[in-house]
Amino acid sequence: MSDLARLTMFEARSGLRAKKFSARELAQAHLAAMAAARSLNAFITETPDRALAQADASDARLARGDGGMLEGLPLAIKDLFCTKDVLTTACSHILDGFRPPYESTVTAKLWQAGAVMLGKTNLDEFAMGSSNATSCRGPVENPWRRRGDNRPLVPGGSSGGSAAAVAARMALGAIGTDTGGSIRQPASFCGVVGVKPTYGRCSRWGVVAFASSLDQAGPMTRSVSDAALLLAAMAGHDPKDSTSAPLAVPDFNAAMTGDIHGLKIGVPTEYRVDGMPMAIEALWRDGIAWLKEAGATPVEISLPMTKYALPTYYIIAPAEASSNLARYDGVRFGLRVPGDSLDAMYEKTRAAGFGAEVKRRVLIGTYVLSAGYYDAYYVRAQKIRTLIARDFAQAFEQCDAILTPTTPSPAFAIGERQDDPVTMYLNDVFTVPANLAGLPAISLPAGLTEDGLPLGLQIIGRAFDEQTMFRVAGVLESAAAFVAEPGQPGGVERTMAARGT
Ligand code: GLN
Repeated sequence: MSDLARLTMFEARSGLRAKKFSARELAQAHLAAMAAARSLNAFITETPDRALAQADASDARLARGDGGMLEGLPLAIKDLFCTKDVLTTACSHILDGFRPPYESTVTAKLWQAGAVMLGKTNLDEFAMGSSNATSCRGPVENPWRRRGDNRPLVPGGSSGGSAAAVAARMALGAIGTDTGGSIRQPASFCGVVGVKPTYGRCSRWGVVAFASSLDQAGPMTRSVSDAALLLAAMAGHDPKDSTSAPLAVPDFNAAMTGDIHGLKIGVPTEYRVDGMPMAIEALWRDGIAWLKEAGATPVEISLPMTKYALPTYYIIAPAEASSNLARYDGVRFGLRVPGDSLDAMYEKTRAAGFGAEVKRRVLIGTYVLSAGYYDAYYVRAQKIRTLIARDFAQAFEQCDAILTPTTPSPAFAIGERQDDPVTMYLNDVFTVPANLAGLPAISLPAGLTEDGLPLGLQIIGRAFDEQTMFRVAGVLESAAAFVAEPGQPGGVERTMAARGT
């Protein structure tokens, strides 16, 4: 693999500005890495011509001494973001052949900042899943393997293609979306950094909707400062999304001072779940110790409604999905299966176009919104959602950020946990609460299991206080000194050595 594909975004940015290499060379190195790793199935649409054209335009701007904050940096885009004239499918047959006539606000901002599009990445169908297995384009393979076990593993989901692309050095960074954990959980499984910003920080305009009150776009990168840089380019108020916050975008990188003296770090009692592997417990304890050594004070906090987060999410998210997905009726987008009547056409199109998990969610959502059950399920779930948000508000009276594991397990084998949807839903037990409460949260790789798989730690911040979240994450990243790479099972020793333990 070319060394150009191993840089961080910051390193690539200074290399480009110093004319050590061109944007075209950087794009070519990544296109070659993508071609060499096609077996992972991370990209479902490659856009090499577009990448090279954008790279040439970047080179021209850099030659003039111009250039945006992401000038010449090659990125991967989850195939949930509408990209003008480029196939956008949400990995569902129902969007077969859909080429949007418009660009999502977030991707438009990336191109304005000078970024280069490598292609569109694989995901769970309509972002519903935790393993990328529900994609109509087949599963993505995690570039990591367990030591002494060659079974292919899931990359997590739903932004599994984006996570795998960044972990396997096919892209300097990627963007994903997170409704209940879809950025942080795959980031944890693939050993990369992933951020779900505060709800409203990034525009949802032009992002294929799953559950509108929960969906947020965010960055996936190989370092915390890269994530801060990418988020700064993606974020900002958009008059086209009434839920986007009319707030200026802070300088997230400037917030990473390396100094967390005096900060209080909440450790929620309720995040100790039965059956969690010892390695995750141990890593969480390490994380607490690292932050304490750096001058922060750990405080035990209680988030008593945590146990209701998953059931609440699995009422609200399907309810919103069933409503959002009503638009796929064979009339305006993608697939149409003709029928004898209009109703027959709708039915045949939706029967053929949606996969099993999407149908399950539409059925659950329709049920919980039906006249007889609306109060019993949907209204009650909304009330509990308010209580979950209140738990966090009370906790943040005692602390400045919250530290938790990202997931209750490391990556598992492709095909495992597929028969029982509830087992799959448990993946999101630590990530879903931040979505329900609208809070920003980051996952960063902090350690390895005994058999060499990456594990993430999560930091949850106050609403619109990504700065403190990044500040703590930067310190945690330095302490964890995670240097292991996929395909190098000896990474355990390297991580421990770097940490000096
Ligand atoms: N895994 C969760 C689900 O299946 C979350 C997905 C997401 O964040 N898009 O709904």
